[in-house]
Amino acid sequence: MEKKYLKGCEFLVEEPINTVAVYPEGFTEEHRMLAKTAEDFAEKEILPNAPQMDEHNYEIAKKLLRKAGELGFTAVDIPEKYGGLGLDKISSMLVTEKLEVNGSFGVTFGAHTGIGTLPIVYFGNHEQKAKYLPDLASVKKISAYALTEPSAGSDALSIKTRADLSPDGKFYILNGTKQFITNSGFADMWIVFAKVGGDKFTGFIVEKTEGIILGPEEKKMGLKGSSTRAVTFEDVKVPVENLLGEIGKGHKIAFNILNIGRLKLAAAAVGGAKRMLKEAVKYTKERKQFNRPVSDFGMIRRKFGDMCARIYGLESIVYRIASSIDDLLKGYDKSSADYEVHVRNAIEEHCVEDSIAKVYGSETVGMVIDEALQCHGGYGYIEEYAPERAYRDARVNRIFEGTNEINRLVITGMLLRKGMKGDIPLMELYGKCEGILSNIEGYADFSKYGDLSDVAHLLDAMKKLTVYAGVGAGMKYMKELEEEQMLLELLSNSLISCYVLDSAVARVFQSPERIKEFIHPIRILAWEGVTSVSTNMLQISAYTGMKNLKDFSASLLRMVEKAGLNPIEEKKVLSKIVLERDGYPF
Ligand SMILES: Cc1cc2nc3c(=O)[nH]c(=O)nc-3n(C[C@H](O)[C@H](O)[C@H](O)COP(=O)(O)OP(=O)(O)OC[C@H]3O[C@@H](n4cnc5c(N)ncnc54)[C@H](O)[C@@H]3O)c2cc1C
Repeated sequence: MEKKYLKGCEFLVEEPINTVAVYPEGFTEEHRMLAKTAEDFAEKEILPNAPQMDEHNYEIAKKLLRKAGELGFTAVDIPEKYGGLGLDKISSMLVTEKLEVNGSFGVTFGAHTGIGTLPIVYFGNHEQKAKYLPDLASVKKISAYALTEPSAGSDALSIKTRADLSPDGKFYILNGTKQFITNSGFADMWIVFAKVGGDKFTGFIVEKTEGIILGPEEKKMGLKGSSTRAVTFEDVKVPVENLLGEIGKGHKIAFNILNIGRLKLAAAAVGGAKRMLKEAVKYTKERKQFNRPVSDFGMIRRKFGDMCARIYGLESIVYRIASSIDDLLKGYDKSSADYEVHVRNAIEEHCVEDSIAKVYGSETVGMVIDEALQCHGGYGYIEEYAPERAYRDARVNRIFEGTNEINRLVITGMLLRKGMKGDIPLMELYGKCEGILSNIEGYADFSKYGDLSDVAHLLDAMKKLTVYAGVGAGMKYMKELEEEQMLLELLSNSLISCYVLDSAVARVFQSPERIKEFIHPIRILAWEGVTSVSTNMLQISAYTGMKNLKDFSASLLRMVEKAGLNPIEEKKVLSKIVLERDGYPF
């Protein structure tokens, strides 16, 4: 069977051994050089400035952004014909990952290069791209993205900002207030969403001009070096040629840009988590208690095992998604007028995976920083040590780019929609699930997975159970399923576990020589995934009355026992590797 890149949600119906993607082992020389340049910049320029940035010094992030522009990091996603580098999405994620050594800079960079620039790249017309993109690529101009309002956060379509055509037809007159807008203190322009005539949700490019009133800097829990302000538009005149896309179609821009923003957030989480693991290893090797380095203690090593396994899972999903987007773009001419339309479709195709990456990324980096802080004991609570700032900075990852609650709704909602539309053969799989699950312990031979045969079998069962429960719940509740959020949350969590383990396993078959090492995080993730899915299913069974779910979960737990998974042993081995290599070892 020919191996293939996966389209959106296909992970549920394909076996990981039959898939391809580019994982870090497969990066090209160009990818590695770009990563190294970004790493050097982060180390030499961003890190030394971190303490001063945290003193509410917003100028530093701005200056660093300009320096990043000189090195081309802000031009990665911009097409060459508009002054950018037009690189692939792997490069884009790599730069984001490697520059994430400080939250304040990270969010400043992300707001400018991502949500502040990409709406023009993907939805702008030629004139708008030619006018703005070269200056955004070089950071001659700094951009921001203004969607949220005081009364419209998650419910973004309920914004009140309005845009009315002037009597002479030359301008849209903007009125309204936006809340929590990153980079506003020094932005030269904003991508603003407003309702034309009060009801047609539409995007605009708004340059700094008369009538734009900035609120004071928000006093935030973290990200103290990034600018976050309310922005009020009072009769602001926006030239009609600055309308982005089509009137009434602004939601397409807002949501599509959030998709790629979610993947970038996950890439940043990879970088942040790797750095914190490194800090924790360094500190615990030096710190002695009871006459031993604290890194000797089992409970500290358990943390390293968990941290490393999760980072491996997260890294696998981020680059799998990025390379699958790149694959969909192969064969299209980058210089053609409609190339960016293909890019945006390729991103849209993976919207479920992007939301999975956002939720798993934000929760993984949160967990890793929390454990790194714990490894530091009391010193972890002190500003001088890296985890303190990282802890405050990372919390917001679960809130912006769509809260994790909203993303969990996207995961199940979009998956079921794709299934109903027939984009993936979900209903066909559902039809077979009951038969397969009744005989799950012996229904298929996974020996082609070699040392991973037990894990592959468990993964297959996890997927079938999740599909069975998800489609079953859809048929039981129909339209009311939307109101069953506690159920949807359990389904989303199961889907996340399936995708992470699927990607972790698939990665090995891309570089079989690495199995000896990769097997440890994979077995830890398998344990975590399978125990989570089976208890999720027990809860769903108890609530919905789908009795066979209970039996199927029991079979899954029996399979875990038979598979001989031994997470404590795996964490002992993995933490030893982490300590030997002074951090994330892969
Ligand atoms: C530091 C920072 C920077 C930001 N930068 C920007 C920016 O540059 N541009 C921009 O436009 N916005 C920005 N935001 C805003 C951010 O995107 C919003 O805060 C976020 O979307 C959540 O909206 P909200 O704060 O109004 O929360 P709400 O939507 O009021 O949510 C409150 C709680 O209710 C939950 N909830 C809401 N609806 C549902 C539902 N249907 N089902 C289940 N639970 C639900 C939420 O998950 C959350 O837990 C930023 C915010 C911060 C803190």
